[in-house]
Amino acid sequence: MGRPTWRVGVIEGMCLLMVVAAVGPAAEPAPSLSLSTGAPWTDRTIFQSGLVASTQDALAGLPGATIYHLDVEIADDLSSLFGREDVLYTNREAGPLNEVYFRLYPNAAGGRADVWSLTVDGIAAEGIYEEGGLDLRVPLSTPLAPGGVVEIGMQFEVAVPERPSARYGLFSSFGGILSLDEAFPSIPVCDAGGWHLGRVHPFGDVAVYDASFYVVRVSAPKGLTLVGTGSEVRREDTESRQTRTFAAGPARNFYLAACEGLVTVEKIVGETTIRSVAYESDLRAAEQVLSFAEAALASFGVRFSPYPYTEIDLVVNALLPGGNAMEYPGAVVLSRPLYDPYAIIWGSIPAPDALEWDVVHEIAHQWFFNLVGNDQVNEPWLDEALAQYAVGLCFEDAYGSQGARTARNQWFGNWSRARGEEIPIGLPVAAYAAFAYSPIVYGRGPLFVYDLSLTLGQGVFASFLRDYVARFSWGIATTESFRALAERYCGCDLGSSFEAWVYPPGSP
Ligand SMILES: [Zn+2]
Repeated sequence: MGRPTWRVGVIEGMCLLMVVAAVGPAAEPAPSLSLSTGAPWTDRTIFQSGLVASTQDALAGLPGATIYHLDVEIADDLSSLFGREDVLYTNREAGPLNEVYFRLYPNAAGGRADVWSLTVDGIAAEGIYEEGGLDLRVPLSTPLAPGGVVEIGMQFEVAVPERPSARYGLFSSFGGILSLDEAFPSIPVCDAGGWHLGRVHPFGDVAVYDASFYVVRVSAPKGLTLVGTGSEVRREDTESRQTRTFAAGPARNFYLAACEGLVTVEKIVGETTIRSVAYESDLRAAEQVLSFAEAALASFGVRFSPYPYTEIDLVVNALLPGGNAMEYPGAVVLSRPLYDPYAIIWGSIPAPDALEWDVVHEIAHQWFFNLVGNDQVNEPWLDEALAQYAVGLCFEDAYGSQGARTARNQWFGNWSRARGEEIPIGLPVAAYAAFAYSPIVYGRGPLFVYDLSLTLGQGVFASFLRDYVARFSWGIATTESFRALAERYCGCDLGSSFEAWVYPPGSP
């Protein structure tokens, strides 16, 4: 196929390259083998090494889960990347689909993502940018029937900002760390309500994804440490470049950091390698990160289900404002000030305490966000309040009743920053004022979960949570499915409780 012709389109104030359908040969046969792996698309053996024994059966499940194959080249100055993406997408909805959407998050985060050479089943196609380039709509010339499969290919280039305008600096290249948050074209959830698109809010999470599979080959300057989602399955080196192939899945997205001049400490616990990557001067805190992570994995592994992967990476981010951390499948990002033993976070919390809390909270997200998915944009309480509540469980396991009290005090303290206002915890991110989001979702939220545990009785509630994780593993839970299962465990109507804590006033 020849190089496509181009025109420049101006959409909502942004100047973006749009691909025009190439004139010429109408069709190329869709390759039956993946260019990245040389194996059939549906061959999932490459993911085996990344999953612990008890999770291997996930490879036989999840029929139709999206498969991403990426070839990514990172520029020497860490300011950009370009590459190729091939996706095998299955329509798992009840009706036909006329299009497939991709999120191009860099276009909403102070960077830029361009896509070209778009193909659908090997035939050149035209993508349409929407929402200022945040969404790429790929029309399908023939509607994709339920169960139908389509292969979408594209070339892409991403410019990474040094000082981004959004999302806490998680998508940035700063201080020798290239942090690739939501950097690759990704297909959002499509369900009975349609595609989960929408604008990016200044705080909270930005998208919701189905559990998918990723094979990502990364070429980067030699000497960089590459960490993130998944496990390394292949490595090749030349004099100046390194090429690493990662396999990940099931996973909600793929995070990658390329770090210059950092050190790695690691520990193998059971089947899982815990890896902590930090500045050399922060080695002591990096080792504390290992022990906090080990405690959290042990606690949640018993209380919920085994941690699914053979690896978890916890990596510093040079740019994140103090007190912030972020979860990804198999990876956690922590802000630099957390590693400073003399720093004070949020105006009052000693950094070592905040570091422990944040490590445990983000690891709890491996169960509540990654394993059990939810709509983090419209129902953020469902993963955030449960992750906060889980910190209390881990602290109880580590420090007894004093640990549980410490967690409850943190929740109350957080809620008090919104003067203890009884704002519902179950609103979409966009419905919260900036001052209220964290106090309500992260403070009042876990207090509701704690209240629910007292209503059910802590033993019954523990069984309920374990069952909740089992039933919705690799799927997507909702407020209503959470409530329905809790009601089965208590044999009661929890309507008044949800009305008091979760639902907006006047909800049916
Ligand atoms: Zn969280």
